Order: sequence, then structure tokens, then C-alpha cells
Amino acid sequence: MKIAVIGTGYVGLVSGVCFSDFGHDVVCVDKDPAKIAKLEAGEVPIYEPGLEELMAKNVDAGRLTFTMDLAAAIESAEAVFIAVGTPTRRGDGHADLTFVMAVAEEIALAAKDYTVIVTKSTVPVGTNRKVKQVVHKANPDLEFDVASNPEFLREGAAIDDFMRPDRVVVGVQTKRAGDVMNDVYRPLFLRDFPVVITDLESAEMIKYAANAFLATKITFINEIAALCERTGADIKQVSKGMGLDGRIGNKFLHAGPGYGGSCFPKDTKALARIGQEHAVPMQITEAVIKVNEEVKRRMVDKLLDLCDGSFNGKVVAVLGVTFKPNTDDMRDAPALTIVPALVGGGAKVRVTDPQGKHEGEALLPGVNWVEDAYKAARNADLVVILTEWNEFRGLDLKRMAKHMTTPRMADLRNIYSTKDAKRAGFDAYVSIGRSSLE
Ligand code: NAD
Repeated sequence: MKIAVIGTGYVGLVSGVCFSDFGHDVVCVDKDPAKIAKLEAGEVPIYEPGLEELMAKNVDAGRLTFTMDLAAAIESAEAVFIAVGTPTRRGDGHADLTFVMAVAEEIALAAKDYTVIVTKSTVPVGTNRKVKQVVHKANPDLEFDVASNPEFLREGAAIDDFMRPDRVVVGVQTKRAGDVMNDVYRPLFLRDFPVVITDLESAEMIKYAANAFLATKITFINEIAALCERTGADIKQVSKGMGLDGRIGNKFLHAGPGYGGSCFPKDTKALARIGQEHAVPMQITEAVIKVNEEVKRRMVDKLLDLCDGSFNGKVVAVLGVTFKPNTDDMRDAPALTIVPALVGGGAKVRVTDPQGKHEGEALLPGVNWVEDAYKAARNADLVVILTEWNEFRGLDLKRMAKHMTTPRMADLRNIYSTKDAKRAGFDAYVSIGRSSLE
């Protein structure tokens, strides 16, 4: 079948590549000429493990192409996916639907035959009905349906998540649209991955509810971690003991410097906003947003303690700035709170990240980028582990400590232990949710 995907970001590109790998004939569209030029040259504009190879395979097979010409791309497409950004609108926390609605109108004006217009972007409840109105107004003669198909992939594991999803959620209003969506996802259907068919509103709500729940789980464990630090409990043992309870599960129970990324911060804010608009305050989600900000600020206090109360003149090595490993995405990363606090306090900051430099350079002014952790730590007063890249999981701590001015470490991902750090010659080591009484 023929599919068009509008927007070639983390979600659109992965979806387009994976749909083509299902055997569909896919055209990916973006309005950014630089992105399309790169894609046409066989380059992937983002860092996502395995994506370049899978893209090349499907381009070579003649199933995947890229263009800026939306009208040509959607010609004879049975399903057109909208996968553009829905960032937080300035000022009020609402999801900004400008890009989604602009694309919906463009599709309406260009489409000729029956089309299913599928929103893959994360959008507030009620948006698909608005998309329907926009399309109908722009092209009253067009035969079409809308469908909601929220995406649950995680950056860094996006291809596996898309190809082996926990579930696919599809919200439709008609059998005809449901049949088209069945055809799109048939390869997954045949392999018994659950496809949950709902109405439009439920599909839209599932996405926000799922993300807000995960953000709550992370924030809950971060709050428990703060209490562990004061009471002598060890968050790693607490998480393990909690997570083995099947009702709780062990995922998203790792204490850290606060959640970030392209989804949780904006989606929790948008859900809170949707609740306000419907006079059903999302009190838990609102608390989560507030506590997460406090968690990030608490990280700065931890570093300040390690620097004897002042960053001024200290040399600080920051290992990892992306919001999580295996991505180059810096959107709402904790580094964007923590690094400016260091720089603003007068520290000389050296940063290393396996993929974050390209995005990070503009976002983190006043830092020096170096190739690896050892270069960053040379003559430093403090090492801060911010992202748990594999490169930072097996560091030779002895080698690192030996070349530091004052060997101190803030391990904000709980990779090491006080014992590891002491053995390697560190004078001071702090982590998250573990007592410094050891
Ligand atoms: P992104 O910013 O990486 O990509 C969006 C792309 O859309 C950009 O390349 C942009 O140039 C393009 N675009 C914007 N307007 C356009 C137009 N009129 N015509 C053609 N292209 C246009 O965004 P993303 O991270 O891929 O997220 C897309 C959506 O998916 C968001 O709603 C997001 O919440 C949701 N989502 C993201 C993730 C994730 O991990 N990134 C996971 C699940 C869901």
C-alpha cells in the first residue's frame, strides 16, 4: 500500500522507515530543505541506532523516498500520517497545534481521492475532530476519514519499539478507516502484537495518560530517593524491592536527576492544561511537574556542596548532556538546568557526550567540548555524570582520579558506588538516594 508521512523528525522518519520495511511504498515529506537534502543523500539527520542501515536497505529496495513536495507525495496515498512537532505553546503550557493544523489543511487542498488522515503526533483530546473540521472546510468535496495513532517509541530504541511494540493504538470513527489502518499494521497484527482499536478521544487520551503515568513513576522514585538520603536507606535496594512486585514493575524506577526529553515535560504540561480547560484539575500531574523542577534544582545544590559552596573558578567535567543515552536529543534535558548553573556560578565547564555536541553547542554556551571523559576530568575539581551512556559505565576511575586536582564525583545516574569511588582514589562521591553515611 502507499503511505505518506509528513514530518521527518524522530517519530516521522522512524515510522516512515519502518513502514517501508513492512513492505509498504512510503514517501516521507519535510518542509526543511536541509533535512530532505541529507535524507536524499542517504544521511540520517538525527542519531538513532540502526536507522541509517534500515533506511538505506529500503531506499535501495525502491520502497522509500523523500521530498518537500507534499502534494506529489500524497497522490494516491491511502494513509497520510501527520508526524510534525507539537511543542509547548509559549505562555500557557498548551500543546502548540499550529504545525498539525497547517499540515491538515495542506493535505486537504492536495488530496484527490479517499484518504485516511492519521495523526501520529501527540495531540490533546479533541484534536482529531478539529483536524476533521479543518480538512472539511478547506476541501468540502474530499472523501476522507481521520484516525488517531499515537506513537510510543522511545528515542535510542526507536526501531525495536516500532517493530516490536507493546501495543499499537488506533482511534477511528469508521470501518473503512479501520480497514486501512489494519492494512498499515498488518505485519504487526500477523505477529500477534496487540492492536487496540478505540474511538478518537480514547486514543488521544491513552498517549497523555501513559506519558503522565511514566513521568509520575520517575518522579515518585526521585522523591523517595531524596528521603533515602536523609534516612540511610539505599534507593537502589528500595527500587529493587519495590519493582519485584508485579503490580509495580521494575521499569522507570531508577532515581536520577529528573526526567527530561522531548515528551514527558511537554506532555505533562499539556495534560495539566487539558484538565484545567475541562475543570478537572490534574492534581497529580501538576505536582509531578513541580517536583521534577525541584529535583533538577536539588542536583545543583548537590554539586554546590561538593564544590564547598561555590562554583567560582572550579573546573567541572560534565559527562553526558543528552536527556538519555543513545540519542542526540537535548530537548528539556536536565543538563540544560544544571550546566548553565555551573557556568553562571563561575565554573570552567568541560563537556563530553558521544552524540550531544551537535545539538548541545548552541544550547550550552560558555563550555568547552572535549572528546572523552578522561580529557574532561584532567585537572578538574569535580566530575559530574549526567547521562548514563555506555561509555561512562565502565570508566577507569583510578586513571580519572589520578589526573584530577581534587578527585570528587557526582554520579547522578547511580552507576558507581562510594566503595568504587573510594577505592579509585576519589575524596568525595555523591549519588542519588544513597546515604553518604557509608
Ligand atoms: P521533531 O521536531 O523531531 O520533527 C518534526 C518534523 O516535522 C521536523 O523535521 C519539521 O521540519 C517537520 N515539519 C514541521 N512542519 C511541517 C510541515 N508543515 N510540513 C512538513 N514537515 C513539517 O518531532 P518528533 O520528536 O518527531 O515529534 C513529533 C511528534 O511525535 C510530537 O507530537 C511528539 O510529541 C510525538 N512523539 C515523539 C516521540 C519522541 O520520542 N520524539 C515519541 C512519541 C511521540
